[in-house]
Amino acid sequence: MQDTTDTRGIERYRRMIEEVNLDILKLLNRRALLAGEVNRLKGRHGIPLYCPDREMEMLDILVHHNEGPFSNDTVKKLFREIFRASRGFVEERAQQELLVAGGREGPRAVVRVGGESVGAAPVLIAGPCAVESEEQVDCAARVLVENGVKLMRAGAFKPRSSPYSFQGTGMDGLRLLRETADRYGLAVVSEVMDTRCIEQAAALVDVVQIGARNMYNYDLLREAGRLRRPVLLKRGFSATIEELLYAAEYIVKEGNADVILCERGIRTFETQTRNTLDISAVPLLKTMARLPVIVDVSHAAGRKDIIVPLAKASLAAGADGVMVEMHPWPSAARSDAQQQLSPEEFRRFVEGIGLPAARAAGHERKRQAAAPVALER
Ligand code: PEP
Ligand code: MN
Repeated sequence: MQDTTDTRGIERYRRMIEEVNLDILKLLNRRALLAGEVNRLKGRHGIPLYCPDREMEMLDILVHHNEGPFSNDTVKKLFREIFRASRGFVEERAQQELLVAGGREGPRAVVRVGGESVGAAPVLIAGPCAVESEEQVDCAARVLVENGVKLMRAGAFKPRSSPYSFQGTGMDGLRLLRETADRYGLAVVSEVMDTRCIEQAAALVDVVQIGARNMYNYDLLREAGRLRRPVLLKRGFSATIEELLYAAEYIVKEGNADVILCERGIRTFETQTRNTLDISAVPLLKTMARLPVIVDVSHAAGRKDIIVPLAKASLAAGADGVMVEMHPWPSAARSDAQQQLSPEEFRRFVEGIGLPAARAAGHERKRQAAAPVALER
């Protein structure tokens, strides 16, 4: 008899505990939503999202009102965990609400450049590391056209580690690049480093590149956001994927939605490559953002011999394109000589990665090569 009464008592208490659990659950979720609202208002007013002082203050209030049986330490531990979970929820939500956010299912941005739709079909951006001379740029442009490439890269403003290294040919180089590209019907992708000349430089290019070293240059990002030119934003070599997304958000927030993200390798302990190509960044960025993602295999590897598999891996991982460096005379290049492909190496690279445009150029070459033989028959 005693046993059945106790069993019933246990069951009754268990039911009560379950009810309390559900009440706690409801309160925890309500708390998270309230924290979300606080953060929404903070974001609107530029107030930092994380505020450790506020957490301390809340813990003091809780300890002051604690009537037990839990000790103050236990109460603090429990609530710290609740704060942590709330922060996690708020951060995740803030990321989902970014202008650049999106997923595989949502609408994806397509950036139109020189007849190409970056984000719709894989593209190839190629050309020398730097604009050096008229002959060099002309020769590079010709090789690109022969290989079916429509987007030419070349830096006129070069961000070099040493102030004594070649710094680029500046605005004159950019004008030269523009004239050459126009002669060959190519679109130009070129880096801009300085807010003071971004407008002038942007007028000469089809895509403004913001390099790895400037990914954290928020003034430059804001200025790029005010342009009416697509922006190719490279990941800083020590930047997290989240930081890259926030950098893109700076641009989009100012009104320029045409941003292409570029993974170009990050610094790790590995010394065989110049940087470590973070292949996981490709599917992650494509899931977290709605922007096109391309991969610069040359600056990632810093060498030529492994870039075909790196480019293939990038495309297999969902990249919307590949960037690669090619110089008419790589050994004489004034920057990044070791990683720039020669025209012949470039032809093999293009064939090796098998992009549709490149295949078309390949067929055209074969057709032209086959023509004299056909005539002789
Ligand atoms: C470049 O593409 O010319 C360049 C300097 O690359 P990164 O900014 O990725 O180093
Ligand atoms: Mn380079």
